[in-house]
Amino acid sequence: MPSKAAIGSIPMATRCCSFDLLSELGQARAGVLHLPHGDVPTPAFMPVGTRGSVRGVGPDQLQAVGAEMLLANTYHLWARPGPQTIANLGGIHRFMAWDRPVLTDSGGYQVFSLGARVKLTEEGVSFRDPEDGAKRFLTPELAIQLQETFGVDVAMQLDECLDAGADRERAAWSTARTTRWLERGLAARERPDRTAVFGIVQGGMFEDLRREHALELSALDLDGYAIGGLSVGEGTERMRDMAAVAAGALPRSKVRYLMGVGLPIDLVESVMLGVDLFDCVVPTRAGRHGTAFTSVGRLNLSGARFAEDRDPIDPACPCPSCRTFSRGYLRHLFKSKELLARSAVSVHNLAYLLRLLRRVRRAVIDDDLAALRALHSEARVASTSQPG
Ligand SMILES: [Zn+2]
Repeated sequence: MPSKAAIGSIPMATRCCSFDLLSELGQARAGVLHLPHGDVPTPAFMPVGTRGSVRGVGPDQLQAVGAEMLLANTYHLWARPGPQTIANLGGIHRFMAWDRPVLTDSGGYQVFSLGARVKLTEEGVSFRDPEDGAKRFLTPELAIQLQETFGVDVAMQLDECLDAGADRERAAWSTARTTRWLERGLAARERPDRTAVFGIVQGGMFEDLRREHALELSALDLDGYAIGGLSVGEGTERMRDMAAVAAGALPRSKVRYLMGVGLPIDLVESVMLGVDLFDCVVPTRAGRHGTAFTSVGRLNLSGARFAEDRDPIDPACPCPSCRTFSRGYLRHLFKSKELLARSAVSVHNLAYLLRLLRRVRRAVIDDDLAALRALHSEARVASTSQPG
């Protein structure tokens, strides 16, 4: 077995991922993540296309609102249509009609969320597919192989997802296993020139475990680093503390990705803790239910008060939905269960978050703390529910 440092240390010539740190303001960073399918200005938000599609939002619309990178789900694409079908259709980018960077999660989170049907061993995770009942076995090696076969820009290691209530002993044991699984995944790589691999900092809800794990993974000189196991019901303050400890212990020269966080206020606060990359289903899920994040607060557009409202979803938003539709019309569409309404508000929510992060990036580059604070205040308003 090669030494730990050697496993992560892919020679520069064969690396397909690098990160340029352009500017810092406090802990907040502005940078560029370089990947095989393009450069991603950071901080950045990845819309989630679980089964290879961002629900109700096409690739042209994603481009129109400034999405630079998408997330898809390994477990779902493994189950249907399968890695070989995706490869035969030209790889994940051709498959999804998206020629910019794609990151896939490892599939672990979905498997663990199946709960009682999951059997966890040192070797991997066995479970029954909830849709077709098939027996499946996911290992750290298979997680990497699947993602390399899809041809994604960034693959995530298989990690164990702890629930927020896990005690210290369990968290320490599980975190050590996540490191062993990372080493196995790295050893199974065949295309480091085409697919980067990010490790995931775990450590449960324990600051010292989080810090130790971040330092341990830092020594492996990985392509990038994720902070996982948060936003699982631990509460905002806990999440912030854990993200701060992990981000503070990760290398300054590598990208830092906070998994599964997507409320406007959480994005801005996490950037101020040193996080560069995000993904979350919140903007599209909320959009499908008629909830819009706006500069004047979180609005539920199916509310009666919007029935004759001629304003756009957000008067300050230049997105295609805000340029086209009135709140009154969208309210009617939600009441009539028309698909267009779901799509229109999903588009707006993505546009809002992506534009928010672009403005945060500008403030960091301009060294403008007052602007960053103003965006923080706006994000707090945008995340706060207004009477519908
Ligand atoms: Zn809009």
